[in-house]
Amino acid sequence: MTTLQLQDQIALVTGASSGIGSAVAIALAAAGAKVAVNYARSAKGAEAVVAEIKAAGGEAIAIQADVSQEDQVLSMFQQLYKAYGTIDILVNNAGLQKDSAFVDMTLDQWTKVIDVNLTGQFLCAREAAKEFIRRGVVPAKSCSAGKIICMSSVHEVIPWAGHCNYAASKGGVMLLMQSMAQELAPKKIRINSIGPGAIKTPINTSAWDTPEAEAELLKLIPYNRVGVPKDIGNAAVWLASDQSEYVNGTTLFVDGGMTLYPGFATGG
Ligand code: NAD
Repeated sequence: MTTLQLQDQIALVTGASSGIGSAVAIALAAAGAKVAVNYARSAKGAEAVVAEIKAAGGEAIAIQADVSQEDQVLSMFQQLYKAYGTIDILVNNAGLQKDSAFVDMTLDQWTKVIDVNLTGQFLCAREAAKEFIRRGVVPAKSCSAGKIICMSSVHEVIPWAGHCNYAASKGGVMLLMQSMAQELAPKKIRINSIGPGAIKTPINTSAWDTPEAEAELLKLIPYNRVGVPKDIGNAAVWLASDQSEYVNGTTLFVDGGMTLYPGFATGG
């Protein structure tokens, strides 16, 4: 019998009741991890992901928590430890957009996006890192004491008019991830980001749900295909596995080349 890449590792994926998070949870489970599927409001969505994982022979539970609320994050980790004892892999995926022209952006739109996309990643990473340090490396499971994958975006490097709050949150995630990686690598904790390009999920439906919108979007993607959540699930399995052991503090862009300044293919 072959041993799966993430056999018996414990993973928590935030915002996993839809889109990229659900695909990551399903991919980690298929690679052998036991997965906690976090959700903020959609218990139904989370239970569907848990059911899909179980139907494929995997192991999963759903845990409700708003990642921007410290007490709820602490409670989520306690529920995780009660169910599975520890954590090996955190995927900081929960995120949202509150788009607005800059001069019309309300403080509420700004704060909400920073609270979920950036503070939420800090709160969850801090709890996971504490447990990684307490427990240390378990060689039978992985050569690292723990792995954190931050779901960033191409907008950690590409400015985005009309989305200043979102771009600022993802730029913040980039330096949060790099600073955590620098501080925690000596403890054998690996922290990296995935920077998705345009992936078909509920967060950006209007960008691809008509042929006209999709054609416009494809102008930004040299590989000429809009991404799907499984593209990110595959990358997450690799970043969580020992196959990427020497990868620390890096953003892996999974974007069909969106970060290659496609306008310069014919201009410049
Ligand atoms: P999505 O809307 O399907 O997923 C976001 C998830 O986060 C949802 O399940 C939502 O319920 C959850 N969430 C929101 N607020 C939360 C909170 N306070 N606590 C817990 N969960 C919360 O969209 P998606 O595209 O799958 O987004 C997932 C991540 O990928 C986000 O961080 C997003 O910024 C990032 N991303 C997406 C794309 C894309 O093209 N889809 C591109 C780059 C980055």
